[in-house]
Amino acid sequence: MLKAENLQKTYRRHAVQVQVLNDLNLEVRTGEFLSIVGASGSGKSTLLHLLGTLDAPDRGRIFLDGKRIDDLPARERDWLRNRTFGYIFQFYHLLPELNMLDNVLMPAYIGHSLLNWWQTRRQWRRRAEELLKKVGLAHRIKHRPRELSGGEMQRTAIARALLMNPRVLLADEPTGNLDVESGGEIVRILRDVNRAEGVTIVMVTHNTEIVSATDRVVRMVNGVVIDDTQPKQPWQQPRLAAV
Ligand code: ADP
Ligand code: MG
Repeated sequence: MLKAENLQKTYRRHAVQVQVLNDLNLEVRTGEFLSIVGASGSGKSTLLHLLGTLDAPDRGRIFLDGKRIDDLPARERDWLRNRTFGYIFQFYHLLPELNMLDNVLMPAYIGHSLLNWWQTRRQWRRRAEELLKKVGLAHRIKHRPRELSGGEMQRTAIARALLMNPRVLLADEPTGNLDVESGGEIVRILRDVNRAEGVTIVMVTHNTEIVSATDRVVRMVNGVVIDDTQPKQPWQQPRLAAV
C-alpha cells in the first residue's frame, strides 16, 4: 500500500552534512501494523516524515497504492495529509488553549471551507465525541490539555488522528513519554483500531516491549531498513535479530 523506493535524505547545515537515509526501501502492506525500531538518531522520524509527505526525500520515490506521492503539488499533498494520513507524535502536539473536543476537531476545521464546516459541524462534533469515548475520555471533553495526564493527552491525539477516517496512521514514538501502563494502553488502542477498522499503522518506537503487539518489526540501521522476518538467501550471513 505504501512503498518507499531508494530513499536518500541528507540534512545540511552550513558545512555539516548528515546522511540519514541511504538508499532505503520499505513496503507497508494494507491493514498491517508495522513497527520500526532503531537507535536514537538512526533516522526513524525522518523516514516517517517522508512517508507522510511532511518532508521530501533528496532522491527516491514514495508510492501510495502505486501512485507517486513524494512530488505532489501542494494542494494534493495537503489533501493527503488531511484525509489519508493520521499523525501521532511523542509530545502529542495538542493546542493548549483548546479543550479536548476542539483539539480533536482541528483536522475537520482545517479541512473544510467555512460554509462547509458550518453545514457539517454537528456531524463532526458527534464523531469527535464518539472517538473521545472510544479512547476512554468521554468525561474529559471540556478539559484543556494541561489538566490531563500524558496518557490522556496521547489518547486525545489518537482521537484527533482518527477524525478524518485516515487509511494510514503514522505514530512517532507514541509511548516515548509515558509510563509502562499508559504506554501499554496506547498500543492496545492502536491495535484495536488496526483490527477493528483495518487502518494501516506504521509505528516508530525504541520500546522493544511494545513491538510484540504488532504484526511485523523492522530495524533501521545505517540509513536502511532491515527486515529480519524476510526469508534469507542461503548465501547471506545469518544475522541475529535485535528485537
Ligand atoms: P530518530 O528519529 O531515529 O532518532 P531522526 O530522523 O530524528 O532520528 O534524525 C536522524 C539524524 O538526522 C540525527 O543525526 C539528527 O540529528 C539529524 N537530523 C534530524 N533532523 C534534522 C534537521 N532538520 N537538520 C539537521 N539534522 C537533522
Ligand atoms: Mg525520532
